[in-house]
Amino acid sequence: MSRYPWQAPIWRSLQQAKGHNHLHHALLFSGEEGCGNEVFIQALANSLLCLTPATDGSACGQCRSCQVFAAQAHPDFMSVTLLEDKQSILIEQIRELNYFLGLSRSYSPCRVVIIYPAERMNVNAANSLLKSLEEPAANTHILLLTAHPALLLPTIRSRCQAIRLPLPTHQQAREWLSQQILQHPLEQLLETALGRPLTALELDSTDTLTQRAQWLAHLTQCMQGQGSITEISAHWEKSDKQQLLDWQLTWLLTLLKQASSDGAEPVTSELGYLRTLLNSNQILRMYDKLLELKKLSTHPLNSRLFIESMLILWQEQH
Ligand SMILES: [Zn+2]
Repeated sequence: MSRYPWQAPIWRSLQQAKGHNHLHHALLFSGEEGCGNEVFIQALANSLLCLTPATDGSACGQCRSCQVFAAQAHPDFMSVTLLEDKQSILIEQIRELNYFLGLSRSYSPCRVVIIYPAERMNVNAANSLLKSLEEPAANTHILLLTAHPALLLPTIRSRCQAIRLPLPTHQQAREWLSQQILQHPLEQLLETALGRPLTALELDSTDTLTQRAQWLAHLTQCMQGQGSITEISAHWEKSDKQQLLDWQLTWLLTLLKQASSDGAEPVTSELGYLRTLLNSNQILRMYDKLLELKKLSTHPLNSRLFIESMLILWQEQH
């Protein structure tokens, strides 16, 4: 199980803590989705269970522990996640976990559990986990992973050591993506994915970039007083409103950065034209207005009207 380059520093510090026997029994990892964090904690679990880890702590991949881990049949490992069709992690799952922690070990020097997405534990499930966090069984590692740490109960957070998993730098994300086989331009993928490389790779196999380019073309038409707002709204009626809004906000932010960096920062070709149509004040104003609209986007409003109101904002810049 390979980790990602941007995770190297945090991996080293965890392995050092383990080497000094200082690894907290409950670790709460938080970090953005789309950055390989699930892979990271799987690799950590694998390494903690491995009988003969490498000098950097990586699992050997050969020992009997690694073999059963790879077969997803490790008797000292348990992963708790959302069951199919369920919105939360249930108390029954945590009870099973508590029972598991009470068993004697069979293969490895320790027992490891992963809970992900940890913020999805419902209140009963979270309360049921407290005892295992407070009075951990010997040689036990509880690894929680979440993209939304603020949604966890404070009682859970306070019993864990919090570890923030990093976003890759732009350079790291670029380097990693450039080693993948891509159909779309790398920079556009990365921008659309808000800098998250694994999300960018996923986007590459969808028609999202085409959709996005078409949406931009339609907005530009509105700004130029071309195209019918009614027809364009009808076209996008069934699309994800949040997504359409987020694209616009990302574009405006890129243009804003570009305007303030005196042209030093490159703008993707798709935005070059938009830039010629808007001055800095207009960009800021549009950004604020769209943010206002975003607050409404989760309400069950008429979808077509909502999209019309976005288009009208652009038309008003005409
Ligand atoms: Zn091993």
